[in-house]
This record gives sequence, C-alpha cells and structure tokens, in this order.
Amino acid sequence: MRRQNHFAILFGLVAGALCGIGANFAVAHYPVFKTALQFFTSYFAEPIGQIFLRLLFMIVIPLVFASLAKGVAHLEVHKLGRIGLKTAVYFLSITVVACTIGLFLVNIFKPGVGFDASTQAQLLETFHGQAQEAAQKGKIAEFGIQTFIQFIPKNPLQSGANNEMIPWIVFTLFFGLGLGFLEKEKGAWLLKPIEALNDVMVAIVGLIMKMAPLAVFCLLFAITSKFGWLILKQLLYYVSVVFFGYFLVLLVVYPLLIFFFGKMRPWEFYKKALPVLVTAFSTSSSAATLPTSIKTTEEELKVSPDIAGFVLPLGATLNMNGTALFEGVAVLFLAQVFGVDLTLGQQTIVLVLAVVSAVGAAGVPGGSIPLLALILATMGVPPEGLAVILGVDRLLDMGRTVLNVTGDMTAALYIQKSVKI
Ligand code: ASP
Repeated sequence: MRRQNHFAILFGLVAGALCGIGANFAVAHYPVFKTALQFFTSYFAEPIGQIFLRLLFMIVIPLVFASLAKGVAHLEVHKLGRIGLKTAVYFLSITVVACTIGLFLVNIFKPGVGFDASTQAQLLETFHGQAQEAAQKGKIAEFGIQTFIQFIPKNPLQSGANNEMIPWIVFTLFFGLGLGFLEKEKGAWLLKPIEALNDVMVAIVGLIMKMAPLAVFCLLFAITSKFGWLILKQLLYYVSVVFFGYFLVLLVVYPLLIFFFGKMRPWEFYKKALPVLVTAFSTSSSAATLPTSIKTTEEELKVSPDIAGFVLPLGATLNMNGTALFEGVAVLFLAQVFGVDLTLGQQTIVLVLAVVSAVGAAGVPGGSIPLLALILATMGVPPEGLAVILGVDRLLDMGRTVLNVTGDMTAALYIQKSVKI
C-alpha cells in the first residue's frame, strides 16, 4: 500500500513535468491552446498545488512545537547538550562541504566567463524589477547583532502567528527544557497532551499525503507549463554546473554519510525517503516538507520520535546544504559575468557568508534570494545582477530544497546511530 503511494507520487512528478513541458511547447507553436492552458492552470493545477502547500504549512507551527518540545523534554539535559552539539557540528560540516563543492566546480568550469553580452542585457532588462525587490529585501535582512537579538521572541505567540521559525524554535526549546525540569508527575501531566498533539499532527500528514500524487502533478505542471525554456537554454551551462554539484552531494557525499554514519544502505535510505524528496522538489520549501520528513524519518527510517522531533525542525530551519552550494556557485558565476575577479581569500569570505546565510534563509520558495543579494553586494558584485539568474531559479530551488531536506534526514539518522538513548 505504502509502496504504491510512493510510486504514485513519483508518477505524479514525472507526468506533471512532461505534461507541463508538452503544454508549454504546444502553446508556443499553436497559440490557440493558450486560453485553455491558462484556464486549466488557473482553475485546476495552481489551486490544487496551493491547497496542498497550505495544508502542509497549516501544521508546521503546531508540529514543530509538539515534536520539538516533546523531544527536548524526554532527552535528559546532559544528553541534550551532547546531541545538540553533535547536530550543530554535523550541520555545519556538511554545509561547508556542499558549498566548497560548489565553489570548486564554478572555478573549474567557469560558466560565467565569456557570457553572451546581449543575453546578459536582455535578462537584466526582463528581471530588473524582481532583482531590485530581492536586493531591497536583502538590505532589510542584513545580518548583524540585531538579527541575533531578534531570534529571541518578545512574544512567542506573535512569532508563531507570523511563521517566524527561528524565534518559534527558540521558545519551544526553552519550553521543552522547562518541561523536562518539572517534577515527574507534573511534567507527565503536561507532556501527555503535547505527545497527543504530535500524534494528531503526524496523522494529519498521512491524510494530506493522500493527495500528494495529484498535488505533485499539479505543482509540476503549473511550473513547467509556464517556465521560460528559452532562458534555460541561455543559462544552461550555469544550471548544469549547479545540478552537477547537487548530484555530487546527493550521489556521493550523502551516500557516504548514510553508510558510514547512518549505518544504512544508501539505496534503502533513498527508497524510503522518496516521498520526502518528491515533496521537497515539488514544493521548493523545507518548511512545507517538514511534516512529511518527520513522519517518514520516524516510521520508515526508524529514528526515535524524540531524535527526529529534535533534529528535523532545527535542520529545516538552519541546515541548508543545497542552498549553500547554490549560493557559492551563483555568487562566483555572477562575479565572472560582471568581470569581478575574486581572489582565493575573497572566495573564502563567500564560503563563510554562504554558510551563514544558508542558516538564516527561510525554508520557503526563493527564501535564499534576498540573502544572496546581500552577499553579492558585500563582494562588490552588483546585486541587481541577480536578474541574470532569476529566470531559472525555480528549477534550481527545487533541486536545492531536495538537498536541504535530505541533509536533515541524514543528520537524524546519524544522531540516532551515534547516541544511545
Ligand atoms: N527553497 C529553499 C528551502 O526551502 C530555500 C532557498 O534556498 O531558497 O529549503
């Protein structure tokens, strides 16, 4: 039954992409189909995709609270410290490795050197508005001491209501710690409903995932039918370098980690994680994928709910390996396009900034773009240059979100195998 659903979700992904690409080409050659396509996308594909996304987002805040608070309360304080440290070191290490791979590839292949000037001018003009908007947001999001202070919520309910994940997690961590400190009976009294809340949320994920095959079809159809394939052709070299990096991480780095640290056969891991990967790919959102990744990691990878409940919400917010890789390539690519020469020392700064901004990026579609604008500006590359890459970013976003989420799951597996609880 489960297998069938995995297969159906994958089928939805492939069928949605193929139908969307077909529709895109059909409209380009036979404009009579334009109205029909618009109708189908606006009244069927997009609404169903949005309903799926919103249903997933709907449970993120209560699920993060229940799973994280319960996990923290169950793990004794000294274990929590050890697990927290191991998790942080693991997150940081793989993010650095992923970004280094990206920087290495972009230095070897140099996709931005000799980039066609007329294509550059045309892309700059087409995506000028979007790029400026991102650059503006990047300025607002500027990292500084204030950013860190604001991670502590003044009013946790307000943070939760505004979907501010880091402050919400900070509050939940404290709540779980407090709960763990309570005397046994008092604590158990409060823990029960929180555990029940967690179970209810996981059950809801099961229900939502029933619509995943259709929803994934619709999401893919809506994206590919509108995608600017011509732009992809112009940026094919850049896109290929990013995807080459993604594949290296997915097919070499993670399998090694899964095998040596997670003590599991990589093929088995990927087979079990398939619905999570497809959800990440089609939604481009680590946050929206979190409910599915928690459920799958607990039920299929057999990671204890306390560890999955602790590692995955933190990972979905803080651990973005694919984002760091992408940012490294994007910054150097645009530097090459705009003729800005970055020395090895400057590239090390790019690495640090990419890792930091991967921690700070929101797990939503395009969450890293404003921060990318900020890195560009810091490195002396015009942030409006983002316009050159925005046209293909959705595709890259889908890929990097898969990496982001897979990295979190490998972390949960590693912690499970390395800590005795
Ligand atoms: N879409 C990514 C995520 O949710 C974030 C990003 O890199 O834009 O993981």
